[in-house]
Amino acid sequence: MGKRKPTMQEVLKEMAQHSYFFDKGIRFGCLRCGGCCNGEPGVIYVAKDEITRIARYTDIEEDIFVDRCLYLMEKSYSIRETDDGRCIFYENGCSIYPVRPLQCSTFPFWFQNLRSPDAWESARLRCPGIGRGPLFKKEAILERVGLSYPIFIALMKDHLLD
Ligand code: SF4
Repeated sequence: MGKRKPTMQEVLKEMAQHSYFFDKGIRFGCLRCGGCCNGEPGVIYVAKDEITRIARYTDIEEDIFVDRCLYLMEKSYSIRETDDGRCIFYENGCSIYPVRPLQCSTFPFWFQNLRSPDAWESARLRCPGIGRGPLFKKEAILERVGLSYPIFIALMKDHLLD
């Protein structure tokens, strides 16, 4: 019989035993500047349940929502962007903020940003909210890394990250 796959909670508990550059926590407070919603084109991953939730919130029939607001990647969907790389739901602020995708609500605490101090520094230069606002403790940071990690894997499978 194969070994049981550890649950995310078990993985996070294990990770909490190790030392990271963010052991003392990181301050972060979103300034709603839209920096991460504009600029370079990127992927805004949405899972099936998020699609249903956002379609309801925007009062658009789900199949029409999928057709008009999303595009299919290899294995998942992304929210469309304008030609200049702005999320179509960003208009002087996020118009779907209460139901924004997990990818947005866990930013900047993504695995790909926290996997090294250099990666974090590069995220810091793009996000003015990093370094101010409430202190996120190591456990809270790891929890967000855990929540957003499946998105990282999905994007890897779609060959959108290295
Ligand atoms: S770049 Fe940072 S501060 Fe600006 S909207 Fe995104 S998370 Fe908030």
